[in-house]
Amino acid sequence: MNYCPRCGSELVMRLDGGRDRPACPKDECGFVHFGHHSIGCGGVVIRDSKALLVQRGINPNRGAWQIPGGYVESDEEIVPAVEREVLEEAGVVAKVSDVIGVRHTVGAPTANVYVVFRLDLISGEPRFDGVESIGAGYFGLDEIEEMEGVQGFSKWSIRRALELPSGSGFTLETGDINIGRPGWSLFGKEPV
Ligand SMILES: [Zn+2]
Repeated sequence: MNYCPRCGSELVMRLDGGRDRPACPKDECGFVHFGHHSIGCGGVVIRDSKALLVQRGINPNRGAWQIPGGYVESDEEIVPAVEREVLEEAGVVAKVSDVIGVRHTVGAPTANVYVVFRLDLISGEPRFDGVESIGAGYFGLDEIEEMEGVQGFSKWSIRRALELPSGSGFTLETGDINIGRPGWSLFGKEPV
């Protein structure tokens, strides 16, 4: 990256956070290039002890089964993002209950943080569009163990969602207005 994506100035190298990084020389801009990162989200929806899975219609891993999920857009809050992905990929309306896992990966195409949510089912029967997803349905753990090509990370997420009491993961802070700010989503453990 040679030019500032915000203001177009030529970037200079500047020490920030213990490393030299490409940075915008204009103080009023302040852009620093911290590298390429992305954020993903996935949702576990349980109905009658069975988990919602979708079958990938696009590569990589076309045909693999996984929990619905995808990328969080840079101007999108993470809760509506995962609810959108569940609706788009599986046709199911569900609301976030709690966070049951966070995965960090380093490597191509970007470093990534992926947050796994548990969602409460509101309405809708599983359906797929035949393009992005080529299958969708609820499956029990015993069935999932027998199925070909179920992502290991999805299996882990489903097991945790079935084992952990409902709402016992990190939940969205909504009470204290001094914590929240537009664009913030803070998840934490409720004190017992
Ligand atoms: Zn700039």
